[in-house]
Amino acid sequence: MLPHLKTTEDITPQSFNTPREVTLPMKMHIGKAATVSVGVGEYVGVGDIVGKADGIFSANVHASVSGRVKEILQVRLPDGSVCQGVEILSDGEHRLSGKLKVPKVSTVREFIDALFASGIVGLGGAGFPTHIKYDVGQRKFDTLIINSAECEPYITSDTHMARDCLEDVSFAIRTVCSLYGDINVIIACEKKNFMERWCREICGHVGCTLKVLSTRYPQGAEKVLIYNTVGRTVPLGALPIDAGCIVSNLSTVAEIGKYLRTGVPLVRKLVTVDGDAVLCPTVADIPIGTSVSELLEWCGGCKSKAGKILFGGPMMGVAIENTAMPILKNVNAITVFSKKSAYLPHSDMCIRCGSCLRNCPVSIDSAAVGRAVKIGDYRTAKRLGIEACIECGCCSFVCPAKISLTENNKRIKKELRAMNSSSI
Ligand code: SF4
Ligand code: SF4
Repeated sequence: MLPHLKTTEDITPQSFNTPREVTLPMKMHIGKAATVSVGVGEYVGVGDIVGKADGIFSANVHASVSGRVKEILQVRLPDGSVCQGVEILSDGEHRLSGKLKVPKVSTVREFIDALFASGIVGLGGAGFPTHIKYDVGQRKFDTLIINSAECEPYITSDTHMARDCLEDVSFAIRTVCSLYGDINVIIACEKKNFMERWCREICGHVGCTLKVLSTRYPQGAEKVLIYNTVGRTVPLGALPIDAGCIVSNLSTVAEIGKYLRTGVPLVRKLVTVDGDAVLCPTVADIPIGTSVSELLEWCGGCKSKAGKILFGGPMMGVAIENTAMPILKNVNAITVFSKKSAYLPHSDMCIRCGSCLRNCPVSIDSAAVGRAVKIGDYRTAKRLGIEACIECGCCSFVCPAKISLTENNKRIKKELRAMNSSSI
């Protein structure tokens, strides 16, 4: 069993309002990068658009501090790609833009338009533009699952949102129910003290269903959650909506409610800062675009030199190459490991123990996939279901031979995508 290590579960989040500057990349979501819409020297208030969505499969980017645009620059993202970004020198005032107004939402179209304007993307890690998710068209949608199974070790940002944003979450749920008609709203959480307690409170307040699931990573993975909550299977290559469901992470739902109530777009984030190298683990409410170095410094820094810094948790997080990197919309945690914890042991030969298969939530035999690909047999890798891998890290975690199975699987999936599937 993966340890939960939720050391920040019962603390009070602290607001960090004084970054010297923020850097806002135009691509903090899945889809096309936004287009820079401000010039150097221009004054912006909190919530002003600094990047306009480039088409529907994109998302607006808003100023998260007030101040002057210092530079339009190239920003390297955690996946190694580069996009344009806007650097804003904060005036420390946090003045809200005078252009913000509460959206008028009385139809599904107006709701989708409001989500588009808000710049909200999936805050649980994926960064999928939220307006696309709710634009269901003619497809049958009967269940909204609010993903509150914050299953990865250390991360507690959603738990704090559940506790502190009751009104926002309730407002969003009521709006969705009034617009989409007869839908079933289910808040799905793991069985544990704090999150379960806050979710129970939200359900009592708004009158929706609570589904308490076993505390077992990766309970919060979208397809796993749908199956365990409503017993439906999402086929390979399909989306939750194809199974009649929309799954939104709890923080995303809270941001939707906040925007609908106040007109303030997505400009801030709750970020868990934890890991064995962090001196004072905390949950920080920060302007998006704050650098990792400023956040860590404000939190009290590290006990020792960091061996690895991740955007996200230890199972699915992405290692970042330096602390100048800005915190993106979909980053819910900064996990910092000491050199000792970050040390990667040497791997041995596979002993065919079957542990990787037994512990895979989607029943992939990673050892067999690896053997097939070693001899160039990608057809077998496909047949073994490698494309359904959700990159949860469980196989690597349990492998007694310490083989980097998840990394191998990610690479194989990438290679398969690059190939013409009809030719293998
Ligand atoms: S868990 Fe590791 S050692 Fe066991 S079968 Fe899988 S790859 Fe081989
Ligand atoms: S990372 Fe490993 S355990 Fe997780 S889904 Fe992929 S193959 Fe299965």
